[in-house]
Amino acid sequence: MTPPSFFKIGNRCTRHGTDTATTMTPLQSIKGFKDILPGESELWQSIEQQAKTIFDAFGFHEVRLPLLEKTELFARSIGESTDIVEKEMYTFQDRGGDLLTMRPEATAGIVRAYLQHKLYAREAVHKFYTIGPMFRRERPQKGRYRQFSQINAEIFGVASPYADAQLILVLVHLMNALGVTDATPHINSLGCPACRPAFRTALKTFLDGAGDHLCSDCVRRRETNPLRVLDCKVPGCREATANAPALADYLCPECQTHFATVQQALEGQGVAFTIDDRLVRGLDYYIRTTFEIQTSALGAQNAIAGGGRYDGLAHTLGGPDIPATGFAIGLDRLAEIVGTIRQPAPLQPALFIAALGEEARRKAFQWLCQLNTSGIAAEMEYGDKSLKSQMKRADKLGASHVLILGEKEMQRGTATLRNMASKEQIDVPMRDLANRLIERFKKT
Ligand code: AMP
Repeated sequence: MTPPSFFKIGNRCTRHGTDTATTMTPLQSIKGFKDILPGESELWQSIEQQAKTIFDAFGFHEVRLPLLEKTELFARSIGESTDIVEKEMYTFQDRGGDLLTMRPEATAGIVRAYLQHKLYAREAVHKFYTIGPMFRRERPQKGRYRQFSQINAEIFGVASPYADAQLILVLVHLMNALGVTDATPHINSLGCPACRPAFRTALKTFLDGAGDHLCSDCVRRRETNPLRVLDCKVPGCREATANAPALADYLCPECQTHFATVQQALEGQGVAFTIDDRLVRGLDYYIRTTFEIQTSALGAQNAIAGGGRYDGLAHTLGGPDIPATGFAIGLDRLAEIVGTIRQPAPLQPALFIAALGEEARRKAFQWLCQLNTSGIAAEMEYGDKSLKSQMKRADKLGASHVLILGEKEMQRGTATLRNMASKEQIDVPMRDLANRLIERFKKT
């Protein structure tokens, strides 16, 4: 088989007019895709750990799902006329001809798994969380990437507004635990299939009268998804819809009671919130409660998290009619905010072994393995470096102690243990040294 032509594409070039010497420009990551390097990854880990601790306490269990799903899943769940499905999905045909999509959000996949494994038959109520990357081909900017990560939580099998309130409380609790004080829940009710159609018709009539004041996206949305016009951020659209009909005036008694109970539950927990009747959110499957956690710390991309109730989705995807509600936190955005509040201490070795000469290195490596396998963070120099350069490296790594093992030490049968802060040095016999070090550093 001839390899596809893209395997041959490269940036090989010649130097000095000869074609024998070649240089390659290192390849760069794809636009809107970023690397999380050591220094930043510790912060991500600490946020994820905090979220997991809270999920455990609130009874959520982790699910890990594929990043690739059939395109149809997203078209049927998110909605054909949403920005995500219309413009942003990474979709391709695989070699077998199947149309696949890199997941742009997690809820559709969670519902798919929930139905596929008939989890509803095992228990009436399920609480899930999942953490991982999503892919949307949006215009990259600060706080908006083409691969970004989310922390998702979903509750299946509870129609009660208390489930919506609990999700908002989880978010508020997590923000507090992370020290994010400038974060307010914004909440709204989108009504239900009984009352939303009347609102949609009234809104459509209003928008038809708005003439050419709407942006080109909203002119399209007016036909396909008029509710989305309400949360367009373009100032002209904001102005044109200032006197648009309000959803609150169209809610049926059930939706009104549901929304009032969410508010009472939040008030009962002392949670301050803002009612935002333009909070429509970009996905078709939401009904009744929708919410976002917003902050002023992020500029234009002011939502750290968003979610809502999606009772009809399981049924739309071919399953039983099961109520559900959930949220997604933007981990990249959250890390940007938390990073301005605190930085987790970098991981530093307790011990650095500076060995001089092959014989000493052989011994050092043995001890290093014993220390590492006993759970002690230790490092050594593998190459043939001077003591001075090894001490420099130990210092750079932030090791609290250095074990020096030179020729003199090898002859004497003792190594030198140096405390890097106090500069104090002691001799330690080599016999049974690893165990002694393990004892010593386990305690610190
Ligand atoms: P959504 O899935 O659109 O409801 O978004 C939920 C949260 O994910 C948002 O509030 C953002 O914090 C985050 N988010 C959504 N899209 C992006 C993106 N392109 N880049 C970074 N974060 C995003």
